[in-house]
Amino acid sequence: MAVNRTPLIAGNWKMNLDHLQAVAFVQKLHWTLKEAKHEAGSVEVAVFPPFTDLRTVQTLLDADKIDFALGGQDLSAHDSGAYTGEISGQFLAKLDAKYVIIGHSERRQFHNETDEVVAAKTQAALRHGLAPVICVGETSEDLEKFGASAVPVGQLEVALEGVAADADIVVAYEPVWAIGSGQAATPDQAQEVCAKLRAVVADKLGADAAARTRVLYGGSVKSGNIAGFMREPDVDGALVGGASLVVDEFAAIVRFQ
Ligand code: PGA
Repeated sequence: MAVNRTPLIAGNWKMNLDHLQAVAFVQKLHWTLKEAKHEAGSVEVAVFPPFTDLRTVQTLLDADKIDFALGGQDLSAHDSGAYTGEISGQFLAKLDAKYVIIGHSERRQFHNETDEVVAAKTQAALRHGLAPVICVGETSEDLEKFGASAVPVGQLEVALEGVAADADIVVAYEPVWAIGSGQAATPDQAQEVCAKLRAVVADKLGADAAARTRVLYGGSVKSGNIAGFMREPDVDGALVGGASLVVDEFAAIVRFQ
């Protein structure tokens, strides 16, 4: 983690917590961090609830002045029209979402999202003032065949095609083999790939963007391994799945220092 970038700890709830459970969860997380005297602002906390929870969580954050950023787990590449079941970037922006996850491996795997779809969704997010959290990562077969970085580097190169140098983006390196497996990458492995991803940002968007952009690690992050990742110079936070659903565990990840 570099001193000039605010760490981002992002909780991807996936298809968990309905809107009532979401309220209880966010309130409890807020109080747990308050009781632990967590200094708001030292780390940016973001939650990514299912679409049906967003309005409820937004209202709660607003009413109770809770300092968590809100994000969607996906968005449509289109802005409006006959796309049954899709959610547009402008809907997310109207709910004060700051971020949107794009190209999560579960979207790539179960919804056949290609690098080109990920690029189109990245553009859609930026059109509506949302910061895309662009997820890239290799499967275990990719790892065996090409090593760790070739696939994520290639995925990010396509996603950043045509993105402006001053765009606000986040990159998340999520090795597919580490997601939900309990087998996280080592801090060394994460650092090596995150540094290469930052080099892609430098190449495509310039040195300023590379210095500013946060590159996260994701895949079996928990309270017991977060500190090791955060010590690495090119890892600026974490995208957390399973452990983001347990208040004490997620709070401990936020308080990694
Ligand atoms: P995990 O998921 O923390 O449960 O491994 C990470 C993710 O999918 O973003």
